[in-house]
Amino acid sequence: MNSIRLPPPGALLTQAQFEQLDHEDALASARAAFSLPADTLYLDGNSLGALPRKVLESTRHALENDWGRGLIRSWNDAGWFDAPVRIGARISALVGAAPDEVIAADSTSINLFKALSCALHLRPDRSEVLVETGDFPTNTYIAAEVAARSGKRLVSANTQDLISRIDERVAVVLLTHVNYRTGFMHDMADITRKAHEVGALVVWDLCHTAGAMPCSLSAHQVDFAVGCGYKYLNGGPGAPAFIFAAREHHAAMAQPLAGWMGHRSPFAFASNYEPAEGMRRMLAGTPSILALQALEAALSAFDGIDLQALRDKSVALTELFIRLLDQELSGLGFDLLSPREARHRGSQVSLRHERADPIMQALISRGVIGDVRRPDILRFGFAPLYVRFMDVWNAIAVLRELMHDQSYLDPAHQQHRTVI
Ligand SMILES: *Cc1c(COP(=O)(O)O)cnc(C)c1O
Repeated sequence: MNSIRLPPPGALLTQAQFEQLDHEDALASARAAFSLPADTLYLDGNSLGALPRKVLESTRHALENDWGRGLIRSWNDAGWFDAPVRIGARISALVGAAPDEVIAADSTSINLFKALSCALHLRPDRSEVLVETGDFPTNTYIAAEVAARSGKRLVSANTQDLISRIDERVAVVLLTHVNYRTGFMHDMADITRKAHEVGALVVWDLCHTAGAMPCSLSAHQVDFAVGCGYKYLNGGPGAPAFIFAAREHHAAMAQPLAGWMGHRSPFAFASNYEPAEGMRRMLAGTPSILALQALEAALSAFDGIDLQALRDKSVALTELFIRLLDQELSGLGFDLLSPREARHRGSQVSLRHERADPIMQALISRGVIGDVRRPDILRFGFAPLYVRFMDVWNAIAVLRELMHDQSYLDPAHQQHRTVI
């Protein structure tokens, strides 16, 4: 049951109801931790999280004090050496893992390479790597590369065929929990159970999960997981990512990027590689300390936050966005691409429209920021820490206005942008 009381289904939605929901919102004060421009309505936290105020302070301190004054002493004195482990432990609380099962490192792409390689190494007798058709491209590219290097076959299945395709041939199933285009959310418990029943391992990608909802990696006995630091975790553009490995795999896991920072004793400068115990062996080279410090400061926005309350708010925001779409924008060419049923939906709503790109450009010019996935998908992300119910109301009002005045047809909104 959602703890947030929404107007009954079918009832006409009014602005007063959205104001009231903000008034009653248990998470309303969390928004104060973020520095957001007053004239902007930000619905793209699923792509790049907003700037937490703490990051400003903490980055200044990291620059002036830790680097500027401490210089190389800060590897010991400012906790630089332990930062990946310490921040991993902080993230573990958001994904339902033990503190020593997560480490902050590298990018999601690189962590996918490590996690998939480890999983294949643990299942040498199996012949296939199973992925989902339409997953985020980097996941498919990396899976293809890892599979090819190990002489395995990459098999891709449609969403509806996935679970039945998991059989004894499969070494590892790689899945993104919440799809980046559609917002469709898999049942992590079900799929992990099915994979284990046939002796396969799972790698879950939590890019659109961590920081938006609770997640139970340990309870579902997930083998490996990866996730992103710059989406709902708000670590900043290109923030370090994270990787999870269940403790039972720690002793046997062999990741191929055997760099010195993953050595048992990096400062022994030994000529032979001996992996560190536990998650430290997932490190390769020297971590990006400034970026790690920014991510650590960003994570403080989650202090004291009840993750179920976060999910409840996210469901309420997306639900209301969909209901307002039905109420205000019917007949204007929009099709809902995201699931209507909350249990199948992440924290985003995607719409199809044949003029998606100019419509989004026109929206952004009026201060409502979402994004598009070409050719025809508009995406709206609802980061529950800082998106307000009135943002949902206002975003739909602006969208309705520009559909009616057709300002999206202006030449100014037909530009080609590299990053969309
Ligand atoms: C955002 C995202 C990535 C990004 O990977 P990077 O290595 O950080 O560029 C990977 N996979 C999924 C599913 C994503 O949503």
